[in-house]
Amino acid sequence: MIYLDNAATTPLKEEVLESMLPWLRSDFGNPSSLYLPGRKARVAVESAREEIASFVNAHPSELFFTSGGTESNNAILRSAFYESRLVSSFAAPASEHHSVLHPLRDLSSQGASFSLIPVNCEGRVVPDSLLHFNQRSVLVSVMHANNETGVIQDLALVKEHVPEAFLHSDCVQSLGKVSVNVEELRVDFASFSAHKIHGPKGIGAMYVRRGIDFKAHQSGGAQERNRRAGTEAVALIVGMATAVRLACDRIREFQERSRLLSDLLRKRLAEIIPGVRFNTPQYKVLPNILNVSFPGGSATQGESILQMLDMQGVCVSNGSACVSGSQQASHVLLAMGLPVSEASMAIRFSFSFMNATEDVEAAVVATEQAYQSTLV
Ligand code: PLP
Repeated sequence: MIYLDNAATTPLKEEVLESMLPWLRSDFGNPSSLYLPGRKARVAVESAREEIASFVNAHPSELFFTSGGTESNNAILRSAFYESRLVSSFAAPASEHHSVLHPLRDLSSQGASFSLIPVNCEGRVVPDSLLHFNQRSVLVSVMHANNETGVIQDLALVKEHVPEAFLHSDCVQSLGKVSVNVEELRVDFASFSAHKIHGPKGIGAMYVRRGIDFKAHQSGGAQERNRRAGTEAVALIVGMATAVRLACDRIREFQERSRLLSDLLRKRLAEIIPGVRFNTPQYKVLPNILNVSFPGGSATQGESILQMLDMQGVCVSNGSACVSGSQQASHVLLAMGLPVSEASMAIRFSFSFMNATEDVEAAVVATEQAYQSTLV
């Protein structure tokens, strides 16, 4: 198998699994219990929180564990409107992940106002369009790096244009791949997930800037200092901290290796498929994602290419894991102004440390065959 869909998820690293095993086998205490096994679990959770916080330049008290990026996005946006009553309006680009767009759509049907922020043909926010949202009653949500194209948004520039508004960023794709420093990014809220960086699935975190009166969206017990009820998933939390440390310690190396692979793929695809379009720009992007549209396409052809690649053991996707299989044009590419034909015919290749140049060469051969067969 050639796995080139690392933006969808990544395999668990051996070291991550090793760090989790004691918490799955013998150390079963509930971190809220006051006796020894409970206290031991509490220490593990708090050490993990400190470690992750140090890598994103947050204070540990600003990080709350959740079940992943989707929950973090939902909790932050819904709580800002319902429980915390911080804002009455939201603004976000149409190229955001569905776990941001769908809660915002729900909130707008419940009385919140929701405006779309325009993006340019590369998918970058148009800064001047933001001025309108510079109000304390508005929450602006702009993802750090796009999961389909890899485009990185200049969040500090966004904040410069909306200093009064709250700023949330979905940092699920950027954590461990580029620097994520909540102070430099000037965000008030951020969302993280472990499984994009060889951590376990089902664990993530939300960052809430100190001083913001943030109330729980999910209520129950007093866990996570009353911000997210539910017994902490100790093993997953420990695994997330290990994954974050391993990824952040090797960011430079990850960037160099991924850049090598995506440059090679770009060059080879341009040679063999005339008219191929690269939806991932060359600069200010995650190095490990390359999104490509094939000429003369339709949604059915896009799906056929994916299926044929699958039959040859090459795992790639047509963008977001959430829409694959549904033969829809990518909402991200449509927001960038691509015609439906090109937005339907896109394939995302995404790399991790586990890939090598041989994977790229094999994927290129398989892609060319799959593409040619859709033309006959
Ligand atoms: N946000 C982005 C940008 C993503 O790529 C994903 C995962 O596909 C999510 C949020 C959802 O994260 P999780 O799978 O941890 O719920």
